[in-house]
Amino acid sequence: MKLVTFERDGQVRVGEWDAAQNTVCPLAFADGEPVYSMLGLIQASVAGEVVVAGDAQSLDDARLLAPLPRPERNIFCVGKNYHAHAEEFARSGFDAGRQINDAIPAAPIVFTKAPETVIAHGETIWAAEGVTDALDYEAELAVIIGQGGRGIARADAMKHVFGYTIINDVTARDWQKRHQQWFLGKSFDTFAPMGPALVTADEVDGAILELRCHVNGELRQHANTRDMIFDIPTLIEILSAGITLYPGDIIATGTPEGVGIGFQPPRFLRRGDRVRIEIQGIGVLENTIG
Ligand code: MG
Repeated sequence: MKLVTFERDGQVRVGEWDAAQNTVCPLAFADGEPVYSMLGLIQASVAGEVVVAGDAQSLDDARLLAPLPRPERNIFCVGKNYHAHAEEFARSGFDAGRQINDAIPAAPIVFTKAPETVIAHGETIWAAEGVTDALDYEAELAVIIGQGGRGIARADAMKHVFGYTIINDVTARDWQKRHQQWFLGKSFDTFAPMGPALVTADEVDGAILELRCHVNGELRQHANTRDMIFDIPTLIEILSAGITLYPGDIIATGTPEGVGIGFQPPRFLRRGDRVRIEIQGIGVLENTIG
């Protein structure tokens, strides 16, 4: 199922999306109560509750929100999880304190983005002029956790995946470098465009998805999720070893080669630029800088 969170007349609902028809079938619980939030749907799904889809409605007078418009807690993000990107990052000089010969991490690098960073497909990414001179994009597959838990074994990890969406891990590279950690430069307002749909795990295999990112129509990133250094089960095992994961948690799995700092000279985003991320089977996430 392709699930979306949408708003009409100030009311937020969750539904099954038909992108081609621009329609949605709003979901309701068995007792007729509408599904008001994606988190509520995920929690109900984990509890084994049944939901039913209503009749298709046009989305012409509605607005798509991010699938999880305000996550319950920080978004887990994995840094340098594709070989070629780890190498371009080391070469760029923006990887504070690291040398090119230790570009490939021996264990996942994990940081987080604040929940308030999330914006929807079509919303504007803040150019942050006067705050950063080094605005960059990172196209990524995001994993949405269903059943939570601590100490999840790699072999069981995929049972904990509710679905997938697209995330742009927007980054102020100058802040990332200067402050020698990644939270500040990745948690500016609007720095996590996400969606438009959450695709349930029964519909796609997150391990083999083609990913493309275009900036102003020019192909910048093209990779397959099979090229991740640490795969999704490994990430879930490591994240959950000491931290309990909860339904609705989001894991951004890292970006492949072709970000702005990978170019000589770097090609940073400017006001008016359009970033379009497409992941096979998941959809297209497009946002403009403004
Ligand atoms: Mg990233």
